[in-house]
Amino acid sequence: MPACSHPGRGVTRRRLLGVAVAGAGVAGLGGCGIRTDASAPPASAGPTGAASTATTDRPRTTRVVAGRLGDALVAGDRTGFVDLFTAGARSLGEVWFAAWRSFTDVAIGGSADGHLELTWRLGEEAGTSAAALPIKFLGALIDGVDDPSPLPIWLRHPVVLARSGPVSVLAAAEVDADAWLEHARTAADRVRDAGLDGWHGWTGDVVVEIPVDSRDFDLRDAGDAGSGAAAYTVREVDHQDVVVVDPMVTRAWSDADVAGLLTHEVVHVALGVSGDRAPMWVREGVADWVAAPWWPKLRAENRAASAGAPADAELPTDADFADPDTVARAYALAEAAVAGIVAEHGRDALLAWAHDWAGAPAPSAAALTELLRAELARRR
Ligand SMILES: [Zn+2]
Repeated sequence: MPACSHPGRGVTRRRLLGVAVAGAGVAGLGGCGIRTDASAPPASAGPTGAASTATTDRPRTTRVVAGRLGDALVAGDRTGFVDLFTAGARSLGEVWFAAWRSFTDVAIGGSADGHLELTWRLGEEAGTSAAALPIKFLGALIDGVDDPSPLPIWLRHPVVLARSGPVSVLAAAEVDADAWLEHARTAADRVRDAGLDGWHGWTGDVVVEIPVDSRDFDLRDAGDAGSGAAAYTVREVDHQDVVVVDPMVTRAWSDADVAGLLTHEVVHVALGVSGDRAPMWVREGVADWVAAPWWPKLRAENRAASAGAPADAELPTDADFADPDTVARAYALAEAAVAGIVAEHGRDALLAWAHDWAGAPAPSAAALTELLRAELARRR
């Protein structure tokens, strides 16, 4: 999907993040929910033996180190964990240890091409996240890591995890994670109240990530975010959607606007896989329509963007959302079209159509266009 660069607004990504970790390579649930690569030789193989293979058998070195990282993590052995890094990379070890200890169901393994593979969940989330880390070894010790793509927000910066029931916020340590958690809880409540509670498999799980800066925000999604976007939603390995927010774009926003942005993104999470079959104007229109009552900035932008819409306005196309010249009006028209649908057919019909756009007996494009134009006329 092309990047959407609508300034200060969220965009949605729909694709698999990271890599699938070979199921055969991970086993043995550890004491604190940490799994390690069962195929790795035991730690008793000794550092000397591992070092001697490092230059000739990188995948084996990676598996050995993965096993030791996992053992130290399960044991809560920070020193043992950091001792697997060179002196120059110990701070990296500290960052990873702290982050990975806060995760659930961590599995560490080595891929055939020598990447360190990590899967994890946050709190009670149903889905799984994954990263494949291109480790730089010095002998059998970790000497650094190249930037993987996509880039986990915890790769080089300390993060903190704030949780409340099914809502989790993973944030750069500099960020006020508790404040973001409150906004995320508010957003989740609103989306449930909008009729999306338990909707086609959404369990109420919400995961929000706040990277340290705009660079890490862009790289979190392999650089696809598009400059100026405030947030996006990415789908992780096991169909868990994660909301990622740019803390620099939203820094000067009011609390109401931040909570409104999260409300928009959580709608995307709730619509999930089934919502992907609907056209983009439906997905974005529903998200804006749910968020609009609480999001002053959105209402002002949509009002301005739709003010000059002609009487014979058309439903926005996917391409309209990708073009900087048309994207603002595309969002505004999408929200108006959805409001028009609700006015004529009600919320339940809207949600049923959004769930199964191809299969449900939704109105024709001509009828939907008339609903859009009628809504625009009401708003003039
Ligand atoms: Zn959106």
